[in-house]
Amino acid sequence: MSKFYLSNPTNTLAVINRYNFVFQKKFGQNFLIEQGIVEKIVREAGVTKEDFVLEIGPGIGTMTQLLCENAREVAAVEIDKKLIPILEDTLSEYDNVTIINDDILKVDIHALAARKNGARPIKVVANLPYYITTPIIMKLFESKAPVDSITVMVQKEVAERMQTGPGSKDYGALSLAVQYYAKPEVVVNVPPECFMPRPNVGSSVIRLKKHDVCPVSVLDEKLMFRIIRASFNQRRKTLVNGLNNSPEIGFPKEVICRAVEKLGKGLSVRGEALTLEEFAGLSDFFSSECSK
Ligand code: SAM
Repeated sequence: MSKFYLSNPTNTLAVINRYNFVFQKKFGQNFLIEQGIVEKIVREAGVTKEDFVLEIGPGIGTMTQLLCENAREVAAVEIDKKLIPILEDTLSEYDNVTIINDDILKVDIHALAARKNGARPIKVVANLPYYITTPIIMKLFESKAPVDSITVMVQKEVAERMQTGPGSKDYGALSLAVQYYAKPEVVVNVPPECFMPRPNVGSSVIRLKKHDVCPVSVLDEKLMFRIIRASFNQRRKTLVNGLNNSPEIGFPKEVICRAVEKLGKGLSVRGEALTLEEFAGLSDFFSSECSK
């Protein structure tokens, strides 16, 4: 008998109906129903039998099935308690999966990686709930948990923001944060027909391969990200005014002007014109002012 894979409309509906499951919009529930896309994600994530994989939001277990078949071990973190009995059923034939009923933003990923993978870098794979894409990605990076790569389905325009550089309207704090920690690469665009129910936005799978060494060195990473946030909070303002108006940045205007002048791009430059290296330089200027 062939296996009961969930990644098609018929089998997904059969499970949904069997459990009278009701999709929760508030949890960003759009389940994949296209086998080709599920296979592509797992392949692009480079999952092998050596790997421990963290899946965020397994839903009814569609991608989890394939992850279990390709990885050494999988932990699947799902917030919706109504999905837990369904997952226990759909994944019952796999002995290498742990289902965790929790909010991923509350999970100690460091501890999970230590417990399950001897603190070696883990692979994160997910069709993310779009309402918390950025907090999840930032948590994975900022927690400094050992992560090798993050291969995730996100809203198409969020993928574009992660990949783009200075001068583009999509360039912002997310682009800089992602590129500081990882090399982003869109691997496939996915139309709404591949999901149940269909989202009203386009989607892309993006792979974020974590850098071994960050591409810029900066004295105070936290300060650099405060500066980046302040620069993009008021996009249409000049960098000087953005930094001066921000409650996160407590430097006198005169120091801010000197720092911006040092960039050699004029005092009316906007944050969106600065590269990651320039933000690091700006941050180091403020760090050295503090230590005077
Ligand atoms: N992986 C499944 C698939 O591709 O068919 C489902 C993907 S669906 C876009 C997102 C999943 O994330 C849902 O199952 C949802 O309940 C779950 N989810 C939403 N917020 C979450 C959170 N904070 N922590 C863990 N899971 C969450």
